Amino acid sequence: MASSALALSGLRIFIRTFGCQMNENDSERMAGLLAAAGAAPVKEETAAEVVVVNTCAVRAKSEEKLHSYLGRLQSRRRDRGLIVGVAGCVAELRKERLFGPRGTVDFIVGPDEYPRIVDIVAASRSRRVLAVGRTRSWREGGQSLALRGNPASAFVTIMEGCDNFCAYCVVPFARGREKYRPLRSILEEIEGLAGRGFKEVQFLGQNVNTYRDPESGEDFPSLLLRAGAIEGLVWIRFLTSHPKNFTPALVAAMASSPKICRQLHLPLQAGSDGVLSRMKRGYRREDYFRLVADLRDRMPEIALSTDIIVGFPGETEAEFRETLAALEDIRFTDIFSFRYSPRPLTAAARLADDVPAEVKRRRLLDVQALQKDIQSGLNAGFIGRTIRVLCTGKSKKDEKVYAGRDEGYRVVNFRSASDVLGRFVDVAVSSAGPHSLRGDAIQVL
Ligand code: SAH
Ligand code: SF4
Repeated sequence: MASSALALSGLRIFIRTFGCQMNENDSERMAGLLAAAGAAPVKEETAAEVVVVNTCAVRAKSEEKLHSYLGRLQSRRRDRGLIVGVAGCVAELRKERLFGPRGTVDFIVGPDEYPRIVDIVAASRSRRVLAVGRTRSWREGGQSLALRGNPASAFVTIMEGCDNFCAYCVVPFARGREKYRPLRSILEEIEGLAGRGFKEVQFLGQNVNTYRDPESGEDFPSLLLRAGAIEGLVWIRFLTSHPKNFTPALVAAMASSPKICRQLHLPLQAGSDGVLSRMKRGYRREDYFRLVADLRDRMPEIALSTDIIVGFPGETEAEFRETLAALEDIRFTDIFSFRYSPRPLTAAARLADDVPAEVKRRRLLDVQALQKDIQSGLNAGFIGRTIRVLCTGKSKKDEKVYAGRDEGYRVVNFRSASDVLGRFVDVAVSSAGPHSLRGDAIQVL
């Protein structure tokens, strides 16, 4: 490490992150490792000597974003010696093919190689570096050093990879099989975070419900309850959950601990049994509805959000309407909706992508229009109520305007006379739109 520390001393590095919260957390960890070796993370890409692009491979469009970004960096790479590295899911999926015939990239680093990021960056100053390939077990690296983007809420990755192989999804190929982080390492990190004043942790993994401590065999509900016992920590969240792995014991653990937020991201993907089965999701519509009823029975206020894919191969209009009906019945607080995009190596890539682009586009608009109405209605119900908010942001334009989220993960923008960044605040809600609530701070905790 000593020679690397010298090698990176003062080196200005910019990390651009695409994709999910796991990528965000990985970037925070890479930035921490690089900074500990003497590098200087910068906020502007134009000030950097090294740019690391942390990528997402989940849809074709995510991959296109990488290529247009790489294109924009090329003149500085050619003329001014900028070093460009690609990290994340596309790095692992495409490997050396990313070097390209004209050499547009200097290093490629897959998610399991992040603990070696300092040596990789150091070596890339004199030669091309390819560092990909999956390890079989969890590798520690940089958790406690992470340079966090949020002053009050911290991402804590507890597992990597996915064993589910949903028919449309490239994640098991880009992130490999499931690997679990040792429980003691997770608890050590969150004790440290609580000690430094963090109020909230969000456990991350592609499929957190199947977590098992590789050392003791303790399961996910047990991890949640142990985290709930840590002093100073007030809110605990986790994502992503898979409906087929959401056990009654997990519902019970959530209900039993007031620190576990009454909020859950529970991807449905589609509302019809035919599509769910072709997607190989492992549950039926009825199972999902039963789980939602159980959760709401134990935690009436629980806020549920979901992911929806429209236009999966063979999706008929009648099947699509079952997705709309499910949205109407369940009334999610938020959804992420996507047009199906065929991905390499996946089972669905062998099916004909037979829903015409125009139909996919219209279905996506239908989903989004319906959901906007639902969210407007749900959020209007908060006007006149007082809600607790964890303040995590501050307006750049108006110093009295702050932003945060409530327990249900709703975005709340509010006015406050004093600086409340990083604090819990009670906010009186005075107005609401489909995507956020607005109000005034009436008490700082
Ligand atoms: N592990 C998580 C997240 C996977 S990727 C989960 O199981 O939900 C995030 C979302 O992207 C998925 O939930 C799905 O809705 C969407 N997605 C994944 N592959 C896709 C594809 N090929 N086309 C369109 N959307 C996709
Ligand atoms: Fe992809 Fe399915 Fe695994 Fe989620 S559970 S990462 S959608 S394969």
